[in-house]
Amino acid sequence: MTSADHKSPPRTCIIGAGISGLALAWQLKRSGHACTVLEPSALAGGALRSHREGDYLAEEGPNSILLNSLEIEDFLYSIPGLEAAIIEAKPEAKKRFIVRAGKPHAVPMGPLSAIATPLWSCAAKLRVLAEPFIKAAPANSEESVADFMRRRLGDELYRYAINPLVGGIYAGDPEQLSLPHAFPKLYALEQHHGGLIRGGIAKLKAARAAKGPKVRKRIISFENGMAELPEKLAAALGNSLHTGVSIQSLRKTDGHWSVTWSSADGTITENSFDRLIVTVPAHRLAHLPFDAALQDELRELNTIHYPPVSVLSLGFKRQHIAHAIDGFGALVPECEARKILGVLFPSSLFARRAPANEVLLTVFVGGERQPECATADTEKLKATVLPELQQLLGVSGPPTFVHHKHWEQAIPQYKLGYGTQLARMEHIERKHAGLQLAGNYRGGISVTYCIEAALSYPTP
Ligand SMILES: Cc1cc2nc3c(=O)[nH]c(=O)nc-3n(C[C@H](O)[C@H](O)[C@H](O)COP(=O)(O)OP(=O)(O)OC[C@H]3O[C@@H](n4cnc5c(N)ncnc54)[C@H](O)[C@@H]3O)c2cc1C
Repeated sequence: MTSADHKSPPRTCIIGAGISGLALAWQLKRSGHACTVLEPSALAGGALRSHREGDYLAEEGPNSILLNSLEIEDFLYSIPGLEAAIIEAKPEAKKRFIVRAGKPHAVPMGPLSAIATPLWSCAAKLRVLAEPFIKAAPANSEESVADFMRRRLGDELYRYAINPLVGGIYAGDPEQLSLPHAFPKLYALEQHHGGLIRGGIAKLKAARAAKGPKVRKRIISFENGMAELPEKLAAALGNSLHTGVSIQSLRKTDGHWSVTWSSADGTITENSFDRLIVTVPAHRLAHLPFDAALQDELRELNTIHYPPVSVLSLGFKRQHIAHAIDGFGALVPECEARKILGVLFPSSLFARRAPANEVLLTVFVGGERQPECATADTEKLKATVLPELQQLLGVSGPPTFVHHKHWEQAIPQYKLGYGTQLARMEHIERKHAGLQLAGNYRGGISVTYCIEAALSYPTP
């Protein structure tokens, strides 16, 4: 069957049904606009994947979402059936650990614990007091995250606070990441307020003075894991979402984008759209069936690097772990020279992640720091990870559950020079009217940023 309905074409076609594509589609649909979403995988959700085995529920991608604005809350509540599925992190999730000298130390949550913590030396703590007096970098300058943090907070705070944090968020190398693009809010604090402490105080005052309803910031997931978000979005989108498709051509004709795809049952569909929003990873853009000239232009975005990451979920008998594992997880600074980037404590974070008297740990390996470690098979990875867990958390028994997910290209890195890539994207969009490039390689990598980007998209 071929359908080419030019009289009342759906106006927007979205390629890719990760959270960026799904959120965009739902934002359009709930504001009364039709759209078509095309996804080659059988399941929508992209990186949001949960794995259930018995009473274990492990995440292959993101473990949680930071709910930090009324707009995101309203968006999530608007998805049919999702509000009842939202679960909040337990209060102990506020506690986070950073490893120093082979031991996890709780990150201080207030001024008194900051003075008392053995995580940082006295000299490092005193160095922080100088931060408000350090001059801001010139406007429009681009520093690496590492250079910026060393300049403002000193080397030790960089090594034992920022470096592990960046490993945990980006699986990235702070020496290579661009501060204005990877952490625009921190960049803005210095540019607009003169520094991190001054900026932090100004933000706090502004938030206190703000009138109207305020959001209760919280870390959330869903009863059936993170995959429940794309599942509910897919159900809400109904027949606007086509999974298991093969996209055959994307052509510009008569000012419209003509899209041809075949469905899993072999049906060929051709339709015409005013807007084509592509939300596939940057390294997949040039593989889309555009004409050769546009493919060449998109190929330049292949330079956005996605390092590999392995996510190893391990279950243990509770009595086989000496550490209280009473927190979000533990991050490992690069200078500690270990084989893991960090370990999350999902069963301490959320209810119903592990059977009674057992606990779930999720270990991240690889990233920019040690890409070669991410490519090991499950047995090799276990042999690497278990001694680390034994040393850091006092794990003594064998795992009762093992699940391994390898991401060959995990998370886009907003490296120094990213501005050139951004300018390329803008150039391509200006040149090819109606084509828009979206996804986590633009505007932020967190699930929250992907949803925010969808909410700020102009509706037709
Ligand atoms: C291991 C890991 C842990 C993470 N942890 C967190 C966390 O704790 N909190 C957080 O907020 N964020 C986290 N993130 C980041 C966050 O999950 C991602 O940035 C976000 O989910 C990306 O969504 P996306 O839709 O932009 O891209 P993707 O999820 O990559 O989706 C892209 C979609 O495009 C489809 N596609 C690919 N090629 C084609 C093609 N040729 N044609 C059509 N479609 C195509 C894919 O199948 C996929 O469905 C994590 C990411 C990873 C990998």
